[in-house]
Amino acid sequence: MLNFERVKITNEPVEKRLKSFDIEPVRGYTDQEGVTEASRCIGCNICTQACPASLDIGGYIRSSALSDPAETVRIVFENLPFPAIIGRVCTHMCEDICVLDDTGGPIAIRHLKRYAADKFDDYGRILDLPKRRFIGKSVAVIGGGPAGLTAAYYLAIQGVSVTIFEAMPELGGFMKMGIPRYRLPQEVLDKEIGFITSLGVKVRTSTKVGIDVQFQDIMNEFDAVFLGVGNHKARMTGTPGSDARNILHATEFLRRVSYGEKIDVGKNVVVIGGGFTANDSSRTSMRLGAENVYIMYRRREIDRPGYPSSNAEEEMEETLEERVNYMWEVTPFEYVQEDGKVVGVKYWQNEMVMEGRGRAKPVPIKEKVNFLPADMVIEATGQETDFSFLGNDYLRKLRLTPQGHVIVDQNGMTSIKGLFSGGDSTNINRDLISAVRDADAAVLGILNYLNVMDQIADEKWLPVLDRWKKYSPSAAIKSA
Ligand SMILES: Cc1cc2nc3c(=O)[nH]c(=O)nc-3n(C[C@H](O)[C@H](O)[C@H](O)COP(=O)(O)OP(=O)(O)OC[C@H]3O[C@@H](n4cnc5c(N)ncnc54)[C@H](O)[C@@H]3O)c2cc1C
Ligand code: SF4
Repeated sequence: MLNFERVKITNEPVEKRLKSFDIEPVRGYTDQEGVTEASRCIGCNICTQACPASLDIGGYIRSSALSDPAETVRIVFENLPFPAIIGRVCTHMCEDICVLDDTGGPIAIRHLKRYAADKFDDYGRILDLPKRRFIGKSVAVIGGGPAGLTAAYYLAIQGVSVTIFEAMPELGGFMKMGIPRYRLPQEVLDKEIGFITSLGVKVRTSTKVGIDVQFQDIMNEFDAVFLGVGNHKARMTGTPGSDARNILHATEFLRRVSYGEKIDVGKNVVVIGGGFTANDSSRTSMRLGAENVYIMYRRREIDRPGYPSSNAEEEMEETLEERVNYMWEVTPFEYVQEDGKVVGVKYWQNEMVMEGRGRAKPVPIKEKVNFLPADMVIEATGQETDFSFLGNDYLRKLRLTPQGHVIVDQNGMTSIKGLFSGGDSTNINRDLISAVRDADAAVLGILNYLNVMDQIADEKWLPVLDRWKKYSPSAAIKSA
């Protein structure tokens, strides 16, 4: 009998996974599970339209169904050099439009990428990349996160000399210092980042542009520059009492933990916010020994960042399983201190008020003051990009949106000639796959700008963009 049900993705028991940062909550598929799940796909490739990086999803799922995971990895590498990373933490918007949603559940697209990628320790052996050579052009990449690493990969395999400047001691950006190790193991990062750097990419870590080296000097020395600097300037709420010693911004908290610090979070932790960062901070706190963790969000559950999506639902399910408490529609208005340390949070319950046709607005009901004890408060209230490293002259020339994102043209070039940009500093999605897509676009833009398209070693290894156009109804009509 035909079985249309999605092959179940299983989790490690909560008690086991809470004991360690080394245990991934979600188990990978076995060979049999991978092939069975991939075989459910009907190959319509509608999902490619939902993928920001336009991966040939139907193509790579088909190769997994045919027990050829190496081909799956090769197809993924056409647009994306981190299949095992993205196979774990992608927001997988593709699954939300899979036509099999009502027929046993969407294909487990993200999980199948992980299944295929985890089978190989050395991608070099299966990819058949062009021979190493140098075409006489050099590009600086500022920022070693997913955007910068993707740009470095596709430029390097075409023979461009690439140097990455990274402020932190290790590459990875938020893949290293944001997303916790239980969701994204260090070995997976090492394998995929190590593969990129093995292609001859020069790396200058612990080098902050604007301090250790001047931006102007980089612009003078290189033929083009790619900015993948993310958004790392913490936005704090400024709630009265914020100067207490045990109040941290989530990105500082997660960064310190990712570099091995065992922060004493005490018994009760309050996390302010509602997105990825709030969930990761709460689950990290549980692993650091907290007994009660509360996420306070000022809007409703349905208003949280990333919702509605299966990714947001899965994330919340895992967080609830780990006994984190969500408090919706609350406004913290004072961090109560004793001897310079926070001991609790005063808050109001909100009511959501519709104003015209816009989003419902949280309005605090101030008659009743509530109190929640806290040994630590973590503010997961967002970040912005710090462009000060550019210096005043370049800052004046760089066009930004009113929200502070870099404006780029269809080639990924900013308002400054030869300066390209992508990732969190540039797009509004602020997720990994969008950073990869931006870098893909910029690589084509850079190669065109450098006037080296006629020297491309192998077109097969140019990042493929807008593949979905091939599958769209209008393309079908044109080709008929
Ligand atoms: C806690 C957390 C969890 C997340 N979870 C997910 C998830 O599950 N799925 C998902 O898709 N996305 C997730 N995201 C978002 C995702 O990590 C980002 O969208 C992505 O990392 C952006 O890539 P980027 O390359 O633009 O920037 P980043 O990853 O931020 O990398 C930028 C790099 O530039 C460096 N840099 C900045 N300024 C300078 C300078 N002046 N000189 C030198 N180097 C500099 C920084 O040190 C950093 O390493 C999460 C983010 C956080 C914070
Ligand atoms: S939408 Fe679903 S069925 Fe269609 S190709 Fe994508 S994964 Fe396969």
